[in-house]
Amino acid sequence: MIVEPKVKGFICTTAHPKGCAESVRRQIEVAKKKGRVEWPNKTSDGPVKALVIGSSTGYGLASRIAVAYGYGASTIGVAFEKEGRPEKNRTASAGWYNTIAFEEQAKADGLYAKSFNGDGFSDEMKQQVIEAIKADFGQVDIVVYSLAAPRRTVVDPATGESKAVTSVLKTTGEPYTNRTLNLRTNEITEVTVPVANDDEIQATITVMGGDDWEKWIHALDEAGVLADNAVTLAYSYIGPTMTHPIYKDGSIGQAKKDLFETSKRLSEDFSGKGVKAYVSVNKALVTQSSAAIPIVPLYISLLYKVMKAQGVHEGCIEQMVRLYTEKLPAAQTDAEGYIRMDDLEMADSVQNDVKKVWDDVSTETIKEYGDIDGYWEDFYQMFGFRYDNVDYTEDVEI
Ligand code: NAD
Repeated sequence: MIVEPKVKGFICTTAHPKGCAESVRRQIEVAKKKGRVEWPNKTSDGPVKALVIGSSTGYGLASRIAVAYGYGASTIGVAFEKEGRPEKNRTASAGWYNTIAFEEQAKADGLYAKSFNGDGFSDEMKQQVIEAIKADFGQVDIVVYSLAAPRRTVVDPATGESKAVTSVLKTTGEPYTNRTLNLRTNEITEVTVPVANDDEIQATITVMGGDDWEKWIHALDEAGVLADNAVTLAYSYIGPTMTHPIYKDGSIGQAKKDLFETSKRLSEDFSGKGVKAYVSVNKALVTQSSAAIPIVPLYISLLYKVMKAQGVHEGCIEQMVRLYTEKLPAAQTDAEGYIRMDDLEMADSVQNDVKKVWDDVSTETIKEYGDIDGYWEDFYQMFGFRYDNVDYTEDVEI
């Protein structure tokens, strides 16, 4: 089938298998170029063993690549992606193709890679992964939790009944009005973000807070497959004040506070085993999850322009390579205990330049001050499109 992009709202409903493989290949190149480092906490024989939950796209895929090529790690990945339906002319999701491409390329490079597709929130998935770790790894040294989802199915342990819990992207306190970029029309418009009620905040914490991460770590430990001195990481975002009402002080920010509390609790609970849990604060980037957050697209397009002009722009893979080869081995945290991968984004030199244009930028000047082309390039490339060395007129197996 000839696969073309079909963009609907914040997502593209098609993905290109060869383009996704190219995206993975380019990310592996970045990691290979940086080269190998020693993982300092290793207690077991053989290669470092890593489990990545949310391993198929964005920061999770980049983490898997960074640990595989940075430490020579064997990796097990967990993601929830859609298989292709050739009979209905439906391509698989990008993460499906990315995962296949990663496994192929990792194996060709002599690295163990196994992937599971299904609901990472479920007990069944945790059990399947634990069995695979027992069979192939013995224990895991690194657990990355990069799952990002709009909803979670929760099972009531008393009744066995399951219900869907849905997160919201709203503010807290007062409704918040600011400008956003309409990426369909490149117009700057005003948007008012409504206030989340207590139930919505609680639901967002259930989906995107630390509960499931904690469940994974306890399940791994109880099964005896969490190595002594293991390290586990989850990801967060803080950002500048103009994004605080929608992010840091919004419903998602409440979930991220819970994630950070969870990291402290995990490090305490497992201190006897030497296990450390970190939250890494990453840079704002175009991913399938971030594209849906109001106001953020305008900020990202101004940020990209400034960071590219200053020569400090990074994508997911550059961020994760720097995390796993530099900041994590050195256990470099700020005073609160966060690993700050957003150090370049939050530098005064960058934020001052973004602030200078934030209030004045208009539909007429957005092309000058914002990196709209860079935003769209990242967006299309996430789904395997717009790579100059992929032939998009070719028939491909979906
Ligand atoms: P993403 O949408 O690219 O990736 C999400 C991953 O989770 C995918 O692998 C997907 O398959 C998986 N997933 C979704 N539902 C699942 C389920 N039920 N079971 C198993 N896997 C499931 O998202 P991302 O932007 O890379 O986000 C990853 C983390 O990084 C999140 O915690 C996010 O808040 C954080 N973060 C993102 C940004 C950003 O700008 N994108 C910045 C800082 C921090």
